[in-house]
Amino acid sequence: MLNLLKDAVSKAVYEYLRPEDNQPTLIEQERPQVTCIGEVRGQEDAKIGILIAAYGGHDVLMIGPPGEGKTLLASTIPGILPTLTEEERRARYRYLADTSSLRPFVVAGSTCSETDLLGGGRTHPKSGYITQAHGGILFLDEIVHFKKEVIEGLRAPMEDKQITIRRGGITTTFPANFQLIGAMNPCPCGYHGYAECSCKEGEIKRYLKRLSGPILDRIDIFLSLGTTTSQEFFSPPTPNQSNAFLARIKEAINFRELGRNQYCSNSYIPGHHVADPSSKLLCWSEDGLGRFKQVIDAPKFSGRKRVRLGRVARSYADLYFDKYIEEHHINAALKFTDDSIIEGEADEELT
Ligand SMILES: [Zn+2]
Repeated sequence: MLNLLKDAVSKAVYEYLRPEDNQPTLIEQERPQVTCIGEVRGQEDAKIGILIAAYGGHDVLMIGPPGEGKTLLASTIPGILPTLTEEERRARYRYLADTSSLRPFVVAGSTCSETDLLGGGRTHPKSGYITQAHGGILFLDEIVHFKKEVIEGLRAPMEDKQITIRRGGITTTFPANFQLIGAMNPCPCGYHGYAECSCKEGEIKRYLKRLSGPILDRIDIFLSLGTTTSQEFFSPPTPNQSNAFLARIKEAINFRELGRNQYCSNSYIPGHHVADPSSKLLCWSEDGLGRFKQVIDAPKFSGRKRVRLGRVARSYADLYFDKYIEEHHINAALKFTDDSIIEGEADEELT
């Protein structure tokens, strides 16, 4: 009897939490004010990296000294992405009562707990930041300072695009399909490689080692944000740059869907396609494949790096509406997939 009562109460709470029936039709909303990417001064390479990442759904790690606009740049991404799909909007309404059609931008600071990030609750399952970021961006600021177990907890939901939480006899599966953007300083003082750095070599290596392997494996694009010059600092904003990026991304999506019948982002292209010279998703040109082979024959060029390079080169080619991946697409993608600032230093033995 008690169990029956418990089940009935659970069901009521469950239905309250998941108001899937009789929900109102969502209405397309005005795009709220998001900072235009043209407001970010300098950082031209990083902006192109953001354009590629936004188009291809690639996870990003931004590295640079403090105060160089990492958070600002990340926060412009919802303004250059097409609005949520109907399915994404319904999921956000159902689990978060959110009626916006704009993709969310959720910031998680390094002091957040596992419950804040993944979800939890006392009496019933509650969603965390990863669900709040569903369909949009999860920004992990100071990513090396997160507790290891908090970051490790991201591994399964990043794989499954959802998370199941059990509390008080209730089990809820929350959606959690987000694009991860991480930001970090290059060393404890923040200036290594950019200005005078006061850190010892061993301190820098230990600092970089803190970056979790499973997360690093997910990152496709590495962006270095250097200090802006006075000329860049005082330069006027580029008007409507976000609208121009958005238009380009929409055209590239059409190009991908019509040209290759590919309806998922390039970040989902399976590794075995990258390793297939006649892949219908990659579409290698002879020169492009030759250059790719030359690059990946370098020592320490892991399988993960090969896949990353292939996917990002595909995104770059799509943004130029080029059917085949050519040599210059590989060269451009190399610039945005270079993780030597992290792995080059952290790989070596600690001194
Ligand atoms: Zn330093």
